[in-house]
Amino acid sequence: MYNLRIIVSIGWLWLKKKCIELFYSPELHKCPVCGRLAEPLYMTGECSDKCFNTAFWKHTLDDTAIIIDGKCYHIGPSFLGFKGSGGRKFTIQFNDGKVINTDNLWCNGDVPKEYNVKDNAVFL
Ligand SMILES: [Zn+2]
Repeated sequence: MYNLRIIVSIGWLWLKKKCIELFYSPELHKCPVCGRLAEPLYMTGECSDKCFNTAFWKHTLDDTAIIIDGKCYHIGPSFLGFKGSGGRKFTIQFNDGKVINTDNLWCNGDVPKEYNVKDNAVFL
């Protein structure tokens, strides 16, 4: 009887370990920003808020970014079924003189100072 308890206990521990491995196995990934091996904090694989913000701004400050008064904007895709800024109409003039009108402007927020990005447009 004593041996049976030990066998059951060992079996239970083994089963518990296998279940943890199968259903809760936090895999270590290499953070795409800092390269640290860690359990990802975000679905995109970043290990920390700092790395997520770095990746976000690296992606967001692309060649379509509109920077006005230190804020970043993008003209959104039209397939979403709803529009940025509630569909409000904006007229924007770029530094090169080009003027655009949009009713689908999305704000990405204040660009962090460390990116040292200059305004490339103004609202008219
Ligand atoms: Zn990281």
